[in-house]
Amino acid sequence: MTTLINPTTGAALREVPSASLDDTDTAIERAQEAFVSWRALAPGERARLLRSFAAIVDAHNEELARLEVENSGHTIGNARWEAGNVRDCLNYYSAAPERLFGRQIPVAGGVDVTFREPLGVVGIIVPWNFPMPIAGWGFAPALAAGNTVVLKPAEITPLTAMRIAELAIEAGIPQGVFTVLPGQGSVVGQRFVSHPLVRKVCFTGSTEVGKQIMAGCADQVKRVTLELGGKSANVVFADADIAKAAATAPYAVFDNAGQDCCARSRILVERSAYDEFVGRLETAVQQMKVVDPSLDESEMGPMVSARQRDAVQGYIDGATIAFQGTSPGGDGFWLPPTVVESKATDEPVWREEVFGPVVAVMAFDDEEQAVALANDTEYGLSGSIYTRDLGRALRVSRAIESGNLSVNSHSSVRYWTPFGGFKQSGLGRELGPDAPNAFTEEKNVFFSDD
Ligand code: NAP
Ligand code: MG
Repeated sequence: MTTLINPTTGAALREVPSASLDDTDTAIERAQEAFVSWRALAPGERARLLRSFAAIVDAHNEELARLEVENSGHTIGNARWEAGNVRDCLNYYSAAPERLFGRQIPVAGGVDVTFREPLGVVGIIVPWNFPMPIAGWGFAPALAAGNTVVLKPAEITPLTAMRIAELAIEAGIPQGVFTVLPGQGSVVGQRFVSHPLVRKVCFTGSTEVGKQIMAGCADQVKRVTLELGGKSANVVFADADIAKAAATAPYAVFDNAGQDCCARSRILVERSAYDEFVGRLETAVQQMKVVDPSLDESEMGPMVSARQRDAVQGYIDGATIAFQGTSPGGDGFWLPPTVVESKATDEPVWREEVFGPVVAVMAFDDEEQAVALANDTEYGLSGSIYTRDLGRALRVSRAIESGNLSVNSHSSVRYWTPFGGFKQSGLGRELGPDAPNAFTEEKNVFFSDD
């Protein structure tokens, strides 16, 4: 049993049973049985079931959102978007079953065609920071491509995934096609890695555990997708709209209380605009509404757990704070949005993924130095570039080693564009038009005309 805690109040929320090794093996075997008929379903029928699943998730948007506020401390506005994102992923990939095209390749003496064959059982391991979207990014394209799915939510935030699994059954998705197994990473997640019937593991979480998953998957040459940490840069040039850059910067890092692998947790500002930017940033940070996440006006809620709060507090204690926003008192796991002016690139707040509401700001002198600083990290997930100079926007967006960049915006992840990391931020891509292919093997067959 796991006791879930409401992060806003620190009070116990409810008990959830943890799946054992035997439960996990049984679920994987059932998923393998269900695979036989799920892959054989007519493409249009699989598509129709995924659209029903999307519709029922949509009809329960408010319930799912409220559940996420209670379990994870997400703001209600974000949580409604997150439940909507699951619906959108299901709708988008519901168009994939009839479009899993192979190719016909010219050959002499016959016909050569390729097929996109589903893999079998796919294991998805989800972290606590975005329980709904990260689950959907895995299961929607995996199911669309004809696979069955076993999914492990983070131990501390399982409620929305468990509810979505019930909704799948209501929508007519056959038993065993999509199973949610709340439990421990070292038990359930590890079994996805070691069980030979699980043909692919999609992992999102820390770089440390991601490396172990990849090493474990090597033993069976198991397919693996990794979405890991980030230390993304928000690069602001002096020619940019500084007022807009400063007004938007807090949301690019403090959204979800900074518990976001895409958080722009390093801000690089060209020296001639530095003082103006930091002055405006202070005003914007102090205006952020860090209040009860169940209120519509809330812009930032608490940390997900006491453990995460304490880990982030350690970074705050070790840094020289420039200024902070506000946060409520009480027994919840609250921290105020915090800004640090970094002087050296070896400071922990500058180098490490803090995963909380802490941002480090540093000045740079020219474009070359800005790119060098942005790339001076083992991570490469996201980032933003603010400039009015089109040539510079092109040069810098090509030079930064990162999977997802936005120019003059901090656009969040879109389900219809690819998402993933360079360097130690990950391996493979999720979302976008090609995601179903990542859940297939390409098979080539030659038919002789003899
Ligand atoms: P984590 O340990 O990497 O957990 C992510 C998921 O992996 C959870 O479902 C976890 O289960 C599971 N897991 C843990 N150990 C496993 C193992 N040996 N085999 C298979 N699955 C395993 O992350 P965390 O401990 O929650 O957070 C630690 C730090 O990771 C954070 O402070 C943050 O810096 C980073 N993080 C990054 C992301 C991201 O999106 N990039 C997301 C979350 C955390 P349990 O819940 O049972 O542990
Ligand atoms: Mg962990």
